Amino acid sequence: MSELFAGLQQLLGASHVQSCEQAAPYLTDKQGHYVGAVLAAVHPANTQEVAAVVRLCVQHNAPIVVQGGNTGLMGAATPDASGTAVLLLLDRMNRVREVDTDNDTLTVEAGCILQSVQDVARNAGRLFPLSLGAEGSCTLGGNLGTNAGGTAVLRYGNTRELTLGLEVVTAQGEIWNGLRGLRKDNTGYDLRDLFIGSEGTLGIITAATLKLFPLPKAQATALLAFESLGQAVEFLSHARAGFGASLTAFELLTADCLALLREHFPQGPQPFIKATQPWFALLELSDNHSDSHARDAFETVLGEAFDAELLADALIADSLAQSEALWQLRENMSEAQKRAGRNMKHDISVPISRVAEFVEHTNALLQAHFPGVRHYTFGHLGDGNLHYNVAHPIGSTVEAHMAHYEALSLLVHDSAHAHGGSISAEHGIGQRKLAMLPRYKSAVELDLMQRIKQALDPRGLLNPGKVLLSQNVKGNV
Ligand SMILES: Cc1cc2nc3c(=O)[nH]c(=O)nc-3n(C[C@H](O)[C@H](O)[C@H](O)COP(=O)(O)OP(=O)(O)OC[C@H]3O[C@@H](n4cnc5c(N)ncnc54)[C@H](O)[C@@H]3O)c2cc1C
Repeated sequence: MSELFAGLQQLLGASHVQSCEQAAPYLTDKQGHYVGAVLAAVHPANTQEVAAVVRLCVQHNAPIVVQGGNTGLMGAATPDASGTAVLLLLDRMNRVREVDTDNDTLTVEAGCILQSVQDVARNAGRLFPLSLGAEGSCTLGGNLGTNAGGTAVLRYGNTRELTLGLEVVTAQGEIWNGLRGLRKDNTGYDLRDLFIGSEGTLGIITAATLKLFPLPKAQATALLAFESLGQAVEFLSHARAGFGASLTAFELLTADCLALLREHFPQGPQPFIKATQPWFALLELSDNHSDSHARDAFETVLGEAFDAELLADALIADSLAQSEALWQLRENMSEAQKRAGRNMKHDISVPISRVAEFVEHTNALLQAHFPGVRHYTFGHLGDGNLHYNVAHPIGSTVEAHMAHYEALSLLVHDSAHAHGGSISAEHGIGQRKLAMLPRYKSAVELDLMQRIKQALDPRGLLNPGKVLLSQNVKGNV
């Protein structure tokens, strides 16, 4: 047994330290692309124990990888295969520290499952609006580590916008208590924003103070049909003006997506089965007055859109069950694609005003280079963030298609970049996009990132090999 392993056992108790073999369930990433190895996996009980683990790892020069629910899609929470890292699991750190309804804030530990954070807020008569498909298993720490988005970014913002304060264990094992429930605080550099989205490479987030919102009194959902993507974008602008802050989600689907859902979920809802329109969007309105107020707003805004020929058709849910059924369409998209066989996923964003141009240009480019590939484009149109997924041509195989991954993805990412966009709107960089980043960031931006990493983690022990290429981290050992 190594000295470090014994030291960790002494620190946390033997039952909270696992060997590499015992830690096997944590060592493969969600997509099955990466398999790592560790010296130990540890389950500290509180922030002081996290800090003590970090200090011990520093003494032994051991890398530290923090993992939440392991639902991230970029291999960011999977250690490398060297077996030298200590995997930090915060599953025992799931306490609610404070609910302050006068300040509309909630302070919780980073190991809390997102769904339980939503439940705590709801039990206090408030809304914590971060919501995503993995909410039953992802943790707040992971949401903060990736600056997760989800379905309500349009109204409430990403995890960053929902966070007022953080508690962080630094790469040296110090504890920074920045759990401030302040909406205004201009006292220098915003350290909170540095740690959010840093994928465990700058510090270990142990707790956060989050913003709460009023629970909506009513919700209204509709599935809308459009003649073109440009028309959907124009409608979105009209809906923003008409609904104001009540517009909570605007999720794109295509006719091909609906057909895929029909094929793989034949028992599910089958809206617009005979429609000829190619584009659809799921719209959600959260109303702080009443059902009738929401319905009136719907009638006015949709009516105006029909008159202006911004909308081809609309299916308005008239019950909670119907609304849930419509949302199932969006939520089942990942599973429907999985059942159809692997495809190439691109989590890109472009300015909303350039979405239609990006899709038209990129579809044409791909058809020219990879004739017959099938496009499943869907997602958060309200945020300019599309899941631009590409499946194999009919008559070809998944394997033959996936062999073109590098070349095809390069075209998609270059196109997103050329349209003023990002190659990672939600899922981060992790290991999967590590080598791509230098192509799309300026030398100045990369250098600033490296200098921040160098300042906060000079020994390069926090989640090495993620976000920044290790040879670029000066002093990395
Ligand atoms: C079905 C499904 C739907 C999804 N939908 C969305 C979506 O709509 N929007 C979206 O943004 N993402 C989405 N994701 C991706 C994923 O769920 C999110 O990125 C989530 O926030 C990751 O949380 P996690 O606890 O699983 O983190 P992990 O996967 O365990 O870790 C992710 C990263 O965060 C770091 N990290 C974890 N804990 C901490 C901590 N305490 N301190 C510092 N860093 C930490 C890790 O080191 C790693 O770099 C989806 C994933 C799935 C499987």
